[in-house]
Amino acid sequence: MSDMRSLAHAAGGGPEAPTMSTTEHIALAETYSAHNYDPIPVVITQGEGAWVTDVEGRRYLDCLAGYSAMNFGHRHPELIAAAHRQLDRLTLTSRAFYNDQFAPFVAALAELTGKERVLPMNSGAEAVETAIKVARKWAYEVKAVPEESASVVVAGGNFHGRTTTIVSFSSDPDAYTGFGPYTPGFRSVPYGDADAVAAAIDATTAAVLVEPIQGEGGVIVPPPDYLPRVREICDREGVLLIADEVQSGLGRTGTVLACEHFGVVADVYVLGKALGGGILPVSAVTADTGVLGVLRPGQHGSTFGGNPLACAVGYTVVQMLREGPYLDRARRLGEILAARVKEFVGAGAVTTRGLGLWAGIDVDPSLASGRQLCELLAERGVLAKDTHGSTIRLSPPLVIEEDELHWGLDRVAEVLARLRRRAPGH
Ligand SMILES: *Cc1c(COP(=O)(O)O)cnc(C)c1O
Repeated sequence: MSDMRSLAHAAGGGPEAPTMSTTEHIALAETYSAHNYDPIPVVITQGEGAWVTDVEGRRYLDCLAGYSAMNFGHRHPELIAAAHRQLDRLTLTSRAFYNDQFAPFVAALAELTGKERVLPMNSGAEAVETAIKVARKWAYEVKAVPEESASVVVAGGNFHGRTTTIVSFSSDPDAYTGFGPYTPGFRSVPYGDADAVAAAIDATTAAVLVEPIQGEGGVIVPPPDYLPRVREICDREGVLLIADEVQSGLGRTGTVLACEHFGVVADVYVLGKALGGGILPVSAVTADTGVLGVLRPGQHGSTFGGNPLACAVGYTVVQMLREGPYLDRARRLGEILAARVKEFVGAGAVTTRGLGLWAGIDVDPSLASGRQLCELLAERGVLAKDTHGSTIRLSPPLVIEEDELHWGLDRVAEVLARLRRRAPGH
């Protein structure tokens, strides 16, 4: 054992993957991986802050930031230091025992989100599943909903993850087609329509599950009175409000929780993505004892949830959000982003919207698809991703500098202008 360890150290940590060109990487990946993604043809090998470098040595401004998992940028020194420190001590115990990173993390995250308790998981989808399980159990035990009948109201255009249950209430045919039979117990109503939420609620309803801003939907910001009205309806009907803040939360919009913009406190928060600091998957559900308390030993869990490495990184994320400049940056740079994407309307874009350092741009579909636009941006050194059709999302890391943001937006303007020059009738 000690021989093996010193050998691995001597070799710099064991064998490294072979060096290959972009073309070779893509060919090998497409041969051996499942085709459940259609990546932009860039092979990234390094990252720092808002920038990444590909295997050809080209640099790109990362305006996707891992769908907001990289809110603090690539390899933020504080996060990397926390991870290194923990890697050298202890990485996994399972929840069969306590580990010394667990308590500080759950206490800090509970405080950050204003809740009494935290249930740590790994992926965002797992945390959403956790929230659904908790809501159902709460309905049976607290609300006395008849067995096997609890329902959850969800919004059209949602994205909550990829598990069998979650795709059961997706309205995206790509997400659900071919994956039935579907989990029953969900009612979908149009996003942004509080009256439809009220109409969908009955005596069986456990919860309303909603994204405060729909991320994969295309950075859809609901009408200002939507969440406050849904909150009122939930209070009146005795229904839990579950806010899926996996993408919208943890600084992206300039607040810890996007719900804060609407003056709304949810009963249950679902967090993920940035909670892992861009280092490892860390997700969590936070709620008060009256809700999370319905789970007792053996009724839910995860081998990796609450592991010491995840807790050490998650704890650092919480401290950075509380003490660091990230929320202010997202607000300040977000104003610049909003003003500049507005200028794209009529100049290649049909509509734009956003909040904080987060924007959705609907490209004129007669000019290009979102995908084509992203490929042209990549050629100019900007990484972004279409959400669907002709919509692209910009969500740079919160550590991006103002001049870098302008540089990236100049590239978007350039690509849109070029597409318009080439388009017939423009
Ligand atoms: C990404 C996302 C999820 C799923 O997270 P995974 O870690 O990919 O499982 C859930 N909800 C929202 C709002 C998301 O953006």
